[in-house]
Amino acid sequence: MLWLSPAAADVSRCDCDPARPETLKERNCSLCAEAEKQPPGAEFFLLKDINPRKPNRWLALPRMHLPGAHDLHRMPKAARDRFWRFAVGAAREKFGEEWGIAYNGASVRTQCHLHFHIGRFVRAAETSRFLFVRRVEDIPAPDDSGLWVHPVPGGFHVHVGEQITETALVR
Ligand SMILES: [Zn+2]
Ligand SMILES: [Zn+2]
Repeated sequence: MLWLSPAAADVSRCDCDPARPETLKERNCSLCAEAEKQPPGAEFFLLKDINPRKPNRWLALPRMHLPGAHDLHRMPKAARDRFWRFAVGAAREKFGEEWGIAYNGASVRTQCHLHFHIGRFVRAAETSRFLFVRRVEDIPAPDDSGLWVHPVPGGFHVHVGEQITETALVR
């Protein structure tokens, strides 16, 4: 199992196709293979991060595949809203109101299949550059950066403009 290994990769070139299982054997496509193992009725699923250096981390993923780098902004809006509700629900269940969710930018992702990192929010990571939204339906999907989200009274902070975002989460 080599998920999320720090090897350099350009996931935008991924050519994985679930109809051709041999294409899912690429190292960058191992989360696509995990998605294929899920029951057909499961729209989203959770995986424990298997990196031993990140023992407190989870991943939220859709079963659905998207082309190439599986960019969040390419997911249809209605599905994206459901994905956020699923991920926030899982994050709350695990970390109460101390959670953070991080989506890394395309240039630093090592797995093509769409995935959010879920963990305990690192308070010291807070910055003044954020959008405040009241509802997950208002979380943007930038096409040029990752984002990280954490709860605040009455809504959420959405921090955009960065590629490496999972540093906002406790390992
Ligand atoms: Zn995939
Ligand atoms: Zn914030």
